[in-house]
Amino acid sequence: MFGNAVPSSGNTKFIRTGMVNQASAPEGIEGQGFFATSMDKAIGLARANSLWPLPFATSCCGIEFMATMGANYDLARFGSERLAFTPRQTDLLMVMGTISKKMGPILKQVYDQMAEPKWVLSVGACACSGGIFDTYSVLQGIDKVIPVDVYVPGCPPRPEQIIDGLMKIQELAKSETLRRRDSDDYKKMLESYNIETLK
Ligand code: SF4
Repeated sequence: MFGNAVPSSGNTKFIRTGMVNQASAPEGIEGQGFFATSMDKAIGLARANSLWPLPFATSCCGIEFMATMGANYDLARFGSERLAFTPRQTDLLMVMGTISKKMGPILKQVYDQMAEPKWVLSVGACACSGGIFDTYSVLQGIDKVIPVDVYVPGCPPRPEQIIDGLMKIQELAKSETLRRRDSDDYKKMLESYNIETLK
């Protein structure tokens, strides 16, 4: 998000002013000299436009992700150019490629180490369902070991699809209430994956 937020009734569109795209402000009440909105909407707007991805790329889909980061597609437009391989400094786990069963526990450990709130984007047929590798050694979908928020189909998906997936994660980040992660449903979901929740 650059410059001043522009009040608008919609919360998904970007407004082009000069050389940069401005994220529109969340719903709220505006008047001369003031704009008021709720805390969760303001925080959701900030979170959605500053997602820090951890690319967990193991094979060909990772190459599509590299294209997504390049100048043509430019993920930086979404505030997501800051990649990190340190789980504690990221909030979006992007899994791209074939995940073997041996790698499952490592993926889970990486997810575990990320701080809340965090989201997971499963990119490509292999990460979503094992893809063409219906075999004893390949995990038939990462949702066997960690919860997934958005699935991007394709073998491989094009960068446009990866961007579409990221925008869907942005919608989640924007609309999620601040307390969702403290809810019993969320805790139950993590427990079903044998993932410890903070008390
Ligand atoms: S989905 Fe297709 S392109 Fe992506 S990692 Fe699997 S085989 Fe490669």
